[in-house]
Amino acid sequence: MNWKRLLRRALAGTVLVCLGPALASQSESARQQSGGLVIHAGTVIAVPGSDVLTDQTIFVTDGRIAAVRDGFLDPTDVAGSESAIPELLDLRDAVVLPGLMDMHVHLSMEFGVEGQRSYGVSDQYAVQYRAAKDDAYFLVNAIVNARKTLEAGFTTVRNVGADGWHIFALRDGIRDGALTGPRIITAGHLIRMGADEGPGACWSVESCRRATRVQIDMGADLIKVVATCSGSKPCGNEFAPSVILEDEFRAIVDVAGSRDLKVAAHAHGTDGINLAARLGASSIEHGSFNNAESHRIMVENGVYLVPTLAVQDNIRADIGSAGDEMVGLMQSFLDNHGPRIFAAHKAGVTIAAGTDAGVTKHGNNARELELYVEHGLTPEEAIVTATVNAAALIGMEDELGTVEPGRIADLIAVYGNPLSDISALRNVQVVIQGGRVVRDAR
Ligand SMILES: [Zn+2]
Repeated sequence: MNWKRLLRRALAGTVLVCLGPALASQSESARQQSGGLVIHAGTVIAVPGSDVLTDQTIFVTDGRIAAVRDGFLDPTDVAGSESAIPELLDLRDAVVLPGLMDMHVHLSMEFGVEGQRSYGVSDQYAVQYRAAKDDAYFLVNAIVNARKTLEAGFTTVRNVGADGWHIFALRDGIRDGALTGPRIITAGHLIRMGADEGPGACWSVESCRRATRVQIDMGADLIKVVATCSGSKPCGNEFAPSVILEDEFRAIVDVAGSRDLKVAAHAHGTDGINLAARLGASSIEHGSFNNAESHRIMVENGVYLVPTLAVQDNIRADIGSAGDEMVGLMQSFLDNHGPRIFAAHKAGVTIAAGTDAGVTKHGNNARELELYVEHGLTPEEAIVTATVNAAALIGMEDELGTVEPGRIADLIAVYGNPLSDISALRNVQVVIQGGRVVRDAR
């Protein structure tokens, strides 16, 4: 290569290098100068559980709600931005509410579509290769499922367990705007009983501490721990003992606490629920066989309940073909879980909505709220579980969960009133995330 060609190539590279950031900053400043968004909203469920407003104008600037005012005001009437013309979104016939939040998803899972393939690797490295390849497959699944979730109106999720490290890349990719999906608060691997030395395996105080520290070091926002068997196993029954020992559970909570992280505990049987609620869990996941003692402990310690009742649809579909050893257990889930969630709610336990999407279908998250109403909550109370309560569970009650000045502008719009028919939330038409319209299906 002669020097002229070298120089040409070098210059071309320089141009590209220079242009890249220039283009990026140009689009960034264009966005900042866009003047934001002005929404004319017929009905606003502004603070779920208390304020429902009619004929409102919502001003959005810099990704946040700047003001909520009575009447349909002129878009140019935004304080301090005479030059910029804000975009007007006409939702005068719609109901606007805070973006919904699902506190129990597994974005990289959806049964039947994992990267469980034959790898053609049969030597001693098979396990290691398989884990790495699965991680890549899981990431692709998670990207697809994240988009489905956001388009269903769920603008924030808590991912409570992934079989790989991809989940942190997904969270960060969405946060940085490279990918489309809900805001993700995520655990890494489950902290689970097992002596296999895989990530998350916990079989002693020391190993449980180590497993927890590894998840924190890799970027976990919370710790998810398995306190009882899965509900898909006979040992997931009401009377089975907790699978984790008290000293192990305490060790996990202590390590998580040393980094100000919360602990979410998977628990079906009563013993595991009560152990976890007593020893410092912030939330009980599933809580299928909670009893009066659980309510007392949970109220006293401020422990949230994340029901995942949507799984009942799977149980109903599968019970006909289940083996004899499972039918009784599955029936006991169907008979108990819903009524006991309602009993906990009545006893003052705070419910935060969570579906177990990944076990159930992604994008079908609003189904969970229908089940709450079926089991006795009012539609308004069901909406509170997926907004105000969820925001508080992840410690973002000052940022998310209501339509008020200063909050992050995560909003959705539906046609049909979810306060009288919760199923209206199944058909979310407009999704706004951080002040940006990410879906408008009208
Ligand atoms: Zn789960």
